[in-house]
Amino acid sequence: MAKNNDFREFEFLRQLTETPGIPGREERIRELILAETKGLWDETRVDAMGNLICLKRATRKSRGGQPKKVMLACHMDEIGFYVRFIDENGFLRLQNAGGFDTRNLFARNVLVQGKEDVVGVLNPAGKPIHLSTPEERNKIPEIKDFYVDLFMPKKQVEKLVEVGDPVTLVQQTRMIGDCISGKCMDNRVAVWVGINALRQVYGHDLITGEAKARGRGAVGSPYDIYFVASVQEEVGLRGATTAAYSVEPDVGIAIDTTLACDTPGVGKDEAVTEIGKGVAIKVMDSASISHRGLFEEFVALAKKKRIAHQREILPRGGTDAGAVQRARAGTKAITLSIPTRYVHTATESLNRKDAKAGVDLLAAWLAG
Ligand SMILES: [Zn+2]
Repeated sequence: MAKNNDFREFEFLRQLTETPGIPGREERIRELILAETKGLWDETRVDAMGNLICLKRATRKSRGGQPKKVMLACHMDEIGFYVRFIDENGFLRLQNAGGFDTRNLFARNVLVQGKEDVVGVLNPAGKPIHLSTPEERNKIPEIKDFYVDLFMPKKQVEKLVEVGDPVTLVQQTRMIGDCISGKCMDNRVAVWVGINALRQVYGHDLITGEAKARGRGAVGSPYDIYFVASVQEEVGLRGATTAAYSVEPDVGIAIDTTLACDTPGVGKDEAVTEIGKGVAIKVMDSASISHRGLFEEFVALAKKKRIAHQREILPRGGTDAGAVQRARAGTKAITLSIPTRYVHTATESLNRKDAKAGVDLLAAWLAG
């Protein structure tokens, strides 16, 4: 058993969150996943959009012949920017890919993936507090007002950076109490949950990823499981749309973060979820309503296995379940969510017990 201060199981999540991967440029995350999960899959492929599709075939007989296909959708992109313009003084202007609240973008370090990786400083155009008027201070800037300072003249900047290069926030992932805090827990935690559920079902060690001797602890699954690290979720569920079309699953399970607004300034009725109270089983959000039968199955299973869980209704926002559900002639779909505070900031924070509950519930369901 892991000790209370033992975060080794989360080392892979730390790596995933500290690696950049904006929508359309997920290649570093894809490589990281492939390197980490060697030996876990029967087949892997990358489709035209960049989705990483990994198949683990059923190892147990399923009732009624052919094994059913289950697709796990764990989007691997993170909100970020593309360089849109380089001005005459070498400052970079940005186009966002995904939804930022600009109030969280002041005074940040960013990583520019140019010819080489360069770190810069992100700030909105305008005067500091010493010089600005009250009206100037009250204005909330738009993305187009922000710029990246690389502290180099234009000529030098242009040797390193071009329009179209990716830009991400820089943030070290930290363990704080029982929580893990950093950038893009949305949605690298889902990659971590999906892979660890597979490891649990197939008796691979949760820290090293290695198969245990003689398959000890492997219960296997009656399902053909397609783990999909999908691309471009943050710009409109784009990768999951094509992945679901090709996988043609019988059941789609999206794993994602959800809001935990159990914090000052938000009423209890609007908290959506609370951290530390278990994995969230989604009733609905603005992109999908979970298949009722699946929802009831997951709730019953969580109760039976005594896995901490909560029910979730998210008034605005969606997950890949919205795309999978509407693929081809329609798919039974649901979302399991990890409650996360400060979503879409560089301080996204979740409780490790909730992440573990997500692994346990998903693994129990996949075991059939
Ligand atoms: Zn997400």
